[in-house]
Amino acid sequence: MDYEQYFGKRIADLKADGRYRVFADLERICGRFPVALNHRDGKTREVVVWCSNDYLGMGQRAEVLAAAHEAIDRCGAGAGGTRNISGTNHYHVLLEQELAAFNAKEAALLFTSGYVANQTTLSTLGATLPGCIIFSDALNHNSMIEGIRHGRSHKHIFKHNDPADLDRLLAAAPKDAPKVVAFESVYSMDGDIAPIAELCDVAEKHNAMTYLDEVHAVGMYGAEGSGVAERDGVRDRITIIQGTLAKAIGVVGGYIAASQACVDYIRSFGPGFIFSSSMPPATAAACLASIRYLRHHPELRVKHQERAATCKRRLSERGIPVLPSVSHIVPVMVGNASLCKQASDMLLDEYDIYVQPINYPTVPVGTERLRITPTPLHDDAQMDHLVESFCAVWDRLGIPKAGEQAKAA
Ligand code: PMP
Repeated sequence: MDYEQYFGKRIADLKADGRYRVFADLERICGRFPVALNHRDGKTREVVVWCSNDYLGMGQRAEVLAAAHEAIDRCGAGAGGTRNISGTNHYHVLLEQELAAFNAKEAALLFTSGYVANQTTLSTLGATLPGCIIFSDALNHNSMIEGIRHGRSHKHIFKHNDPADLDRLLAAAPKDAPKVVAFESVYSMDGDIAPIAELCDVAEKHNAMTYLDEVHAVGMYGAEGSGVAERDGVRDRITIIQGTLAKAIGVVGGYIAASQACVDYIRSFGPGFIFSSSMPPATAAACLASIRYLRHHPELRVKHQERAATCKRRLSERGIPVLPSVSHIVPVMVGNASLCKQASDMLLDEYDIYVQPINYPTVPVGTERLRITPTPLHDDAQMDHLVESFCAVWDRLGIPKAGEQAKAA
């Protein structure tokens, strides 16, 4: 095989489909979030970022930066090893204690990312519980899918957010087999939210464990911000709560929170935990400061919800086709990969607005979109500019408005 030719051909196919990913070269400006510098074509311009997963701007908050500075001066740049061999720093221990309390669980375990947390935990359960069957929501994130695949257990996919379908599949499974029901709270691309209590009803009826990915809810939902399970008062019904430290917490890393026995089990048998070096102590210190801040500042969550609701309402009023999301995520439907990329390019090049196109395989073909994530720090002037720019781009590219799509359909 001519390897280079093969690689080139596959990339050319992606480009022809309009699905070739181009990174925006951004430089975040400390203290000015959501404004960033964008380096492109040898020039540097200020842009307003409308697609950051630093949902609350915590990555630049003074308390978080101070904690990181202090820890890097005390402990240095890296952790020095895996958690078992010299890589457990006191900040890791404090952060795990904080995460356990934050999630109202007995214990918590850190991973280097949310991806690794999902991949490791689900693959470990699947591979080590004898006869395990995993029931996975149809729209689960790739990190869960990979974990389930890697564990090589039996698996069933239930219809998205559908407790009745889950019930049907669980009822057909051998009664005594260990079972895990894996799903997310906020689905990041459509912005819908799982019926957690109903899914727990079904799981409990069949004696299945529940595994909840709160990645797009941590920091943003519930009185203290631990997620939708807290908001809905069902944390005690979830066996394992998983989350990230890279989105609303504003730093990087992942975790699970569960009973002492369950956490100890994954700690002892999970390869992605055992064989990977731990996060730098300063990263753990920054996460700790961020969570402590968020637990006591619900007003940030209130403002965040207001900004998201205002953004959805204002775009919809102008005919921009926003999916009726019940969360903070604002998906604007384009329905065509190359048009989606053109819209994103035009917004960046001519309006200094950065919203990355979302294409297949992240979303199904024909549902390509621009995914806007308003934060509490986007002000009214930035919101006005966003709405006017979207209207201008929609008109210039002839993308159908909401009513026009309905007519065509
Ligand atoms: N779960 C979901 C639902 C996600 O969207 C993501 C990342 N986008 C992850 C897990 C992985 O988290 P991390 O970015 O911390 O690796």
